[in-house]
Amino acid sequence: MYAGHLAAGLAIKAVVPRAPTAALTVLVFLPHFLWLGLSVGGVETVTPGAWFDGWSHSFASVIVQAVLVGALWWLRDARVAIALTSAVLSHIVLDLPVHPAALEWYPHAGSGFGNLLHGWADEGGALAKTPGWWVEAAIVLCGSGLYIAMARRIGVRSPAAAAVTVLVASLHIAFG
Ligand SMILES: [Zn+2]
Repeated sequence: MYAGHLAAGLAIKAVVPRAPTAALTVLVFLPHFLWLGLSVGGVETVTPGAWFDGWSHSFASVIVQAVLVGALWWLRDARVAIALTSAVLSHIVLDLPVHPAALEWYPHAGSGFGNLLHGWADEGGALAKTPGWWVEAAIVLCGSGLYIAMARRIGVRSPAAAAVTVLVASLHIAFG
C-alpha cells in the first residue's frame, strides 16, 4: 500500500495544518523504510513461508517508532507532535486489512493480529480489481476528500489541493 498511506498523511495535514507536509509524507511510511533497510540487511524476510517483519511492523515496534517521533517533536509543538505520532500509527491501522501476514504483537511474538482480508484481499473483485485494491481506494477517497474539503482552511489553494489528490489517486491506479 502506497497511496493509502499518503492519503492518511493528507487527512492528518487537513486536521493539523501546522504539521510539516514533508515530515508527514515520510512518517506515514516509517515502518516501510525500516522494513526496506532491515530486509536488505537480511534481518526481515518476505519469503513465502518464512515471512518476518516484526521489527518494522509489529504493534510494539510501530508504537515505539511513533512515541520516539512524538518525543522528538514534543517540546517544539505538542499538537504537531501528536499529528506526527498519528502519522506513524496510521501505518499499522491501514496495514491491518491488507498486510500479507498478521502483524505480530512484538518482534518474534509468533502471534498477532491483522491480515483481515486474508484469503480474498488479492482475489478477483469488481471491475477486475482486488478487494484489497477497493479497500485502499476507499481510504484514498476519504483522506483526499478531507484534504480537499479543508484546503482553504489550511491555506492550500483549491487547484493545488486537487492536483495533490489527482496525484495520489493516480499512484493508486498505476501501482495499487
Ligand atoms: Zn507497511
